[in-house]
Amino acid sequence: MSTVLQNAVKTESGVEVNGISVQPIVEKCDGCDRVCEFEGQKYCGSYPVPARKWVSGKCNFATHIKVEAAAKAKVNPLKASKRAAKGR
Ligand code: SF4
Repeated sequence: MSTVLQNAVKTESGVEVNGISVQPIVEKCDGCDRVCEFEGQKYCGSYPVPARKWVSGKCNFATHIKVEAAAKAKVNPLKASKRAAKGR
């Protein structure tokens, strides 16, 4: 979270990275490892417009979402073993 947004500059029209204007992260980005900071605002280190990554579902680069998926995966083998036990 303390990562600084690289190559970021403040312009009249907002913050830019390599000439591309970037927008602050959205609420759903909270906890993602790609969140960077610049001048007290949080930005995505991978996408200029984080809100757009969430328009059609989950952001495919979100690191905090993958963690949730891994936690769910842990539950599945348990269910599978219960199902196997019933079958016996
Ligand atoms: S990678 Fe996705 S979830 Fe993470 S900060 Fe960027 S837009 Fe947000």
